Amino acid sequence: MPLIALRQLLDAAADGGYGVGAFNVNNMEQIQAIMEAARETQSPVIVQASRGARSYTNDRFLFHLMAAAAELYPEIPVVLHQDHGNSPETCISAIELGFTSVMMDGSLLEDGKTPADFEHNVRVTREVVEHAHARGVSVEGELGTLGGIEDGVGSGEVHLTDPDQAVEFVERTGIDALAVAIGTSHGAYKFSRPPDGEVLSMNLIEEIHSKLPDTHLVMHGSSSVPKDLVDAINEYGGAMQPTWGVPIEEIQQGIRHGVRKINVDTDLRLAMTGAIRKVFAEEPDEFDPRSYLKPARAAMQRVVAERMVQFGQAGHAPELEAKPLEEMQALYA
Ligand SMILES: [Zn+2]
Repeated sequence: MPLIALRQLLDAAADGGYGVGAFNVNNMEQIQAIMEAARETQSPVIVQASRGARSYTNDRFLFHLMAAAAELYPEIPVVLHQDHGNSPETCISAIELGFTSVMMDGSLLEDGKTPADFEHNVRVTREVVEHAHARGVSVEGELGTLGGIEDGVGSGEVHLTDPDQAVEFVERTGIDALAVAIGTSHGAYKFSRPPDGEVLSMNLIEEIHSKLPDTHLVMHGSSSVPKDLVDAINEYGGAMQPTWGVPIEEIQQGIRHGVRKINVDTDLRLAMTGAIRKVFAEEPDEFDPRSYLKPARAAMQRVVAERMVQFGQAGHAPELEAKPLEEMQALYA
């Protein structure tokens, strides 16, 4: 697996008019599910780890699991991305660990909860960009705040991204990709009714893209929360409330207007949990962890492969030749 810089992959996605899913990992089965889906669909892929994932795996397990993926899937270009870095220190430690991309989320203070002011955001993001670009590593920033809380990240308040401020933010920080707040939320409970143009500001994406045609836009909280995945959990003893996610068509509309990275985590969690619950319900005498982790892994692989096709990244792995980070470094210099 050649590790590829986020910037190179998203530049190619912009040329090809497609989007790339960014899928969260915490353990071996999730990494395997994503890599198998990538192989099955011949997709380049973004694998991302939150701070929570890095502490869960103690970094070293994550690093060696990714090294194993590198060995086993040499034909798949992979971006290893830090999701929601809360401080320059978090991003710098990810770069030292070998990540090819980091998100500095300066929309929140270091506690990951309190909304930060614009100047704080510019300052910490700029600091990360200088450090990262000098090493060929890409940077995603965020302006505006998303709803919901996931992995302890989020203020629970929604502040939509202001397009003019976005222009100033990109100019002053030099980021490669910008996470925009358009009304999506982290977690499973995004909307209490099917979202339409009033809850999701798709026109905001179009406006930001028209002002920043060369900045790759990122949609966070973009699980679709399919009813069948929620139903599967509830059918086998779960108690999830009715909920709606971001429709695939809205994401595809975003992709037509500059969205290149789409973060999906909740759908993968739902798929695994439903599959595990099914085994527990149907085979209560079963106690070999493989008996439920295998179907869980397969269920996650199905969702990832489906998203890869829907976002358009399927089939694009063979045409990408990962540039060494030194080459990316020279491009920034
Ligand atoms: Zn996010």
